[in-house]
Amino acid sequence: MGSESDIERILWTEEEISGRVGELAAEISADFREVSPPVVVVGVATGAFLFLADIVRKMTFPVSVDFVRVESYGSGTESSGRPRISCDLKIDVKGKHVILVEDIVDTGNTLSCLISHLEGKGACSVSVCSFLDKPARRKVHFELVGEGKFYRGFECPDYFVVGYGMDYAELYRNLPYVGVLKPEMYE
Ligand code: 5GP
Ligand code: MG
Repeated sequence: MGSESDIERILWTEEEISGRVGELAAEISADFREVSPPVVVVGVATGAFLFLADIVRKMTFPVSVDFVRVESYGSGTESSGRPRISCDLKIDVKGKHVILVEDIVDTGNTLSCLISHLEGKGACSVSVCSFLDKPARRKVHFELVGEGKFYRGFECPDYFVVGYGMDYAELYRNLPYVGVLKPEMYE
């Protein structure tokens, strides 16, 4: 368990991911070109680590980088619905623009919790940049803060996906592509 042979189907290849990350970084860089207060890119650990590493290297404006950790999943494939911030930011985001970087938005519980948290800390805007978005499974509507915008890499069909930072039972995060596991892997 944990190897390439467990993958049933690849949804996005390494090349497709890299192309889309470049497009997103260009779009965000154009939007943030004129922004004067500092911009803090906040990755949601652990799933966003590869996406964050790739996208910040293509952003052409000054950024600080920090991480938050949110627990909601355990080792299964269903969200608990009650996310908990288990490791908070080191950087003070008061009066700053924040771009939250996520691996995937599913029910919306995690993002809604994090956006309120950042708003409470005084961020002047909160944007979200999610590598994947599963709109079919949305349960919680989230409002961005200030002039914040929503950016997404790809719309994801309603499958549990792994790779490019995303896990099943803490495995598969290092796969350079995104795929779906063979059904027997969940047994
Ligand atoms: P939400 O709170 O929106 O339901 O879920 C957000 C978190 O659940 C994501 O940040 C991600 O860590 C995890 N998640 C949601 N869907 C998937 C999926 O298809 N695969 C994996 N590996 N994690 C997922
Ligand atoms: Mg996540």
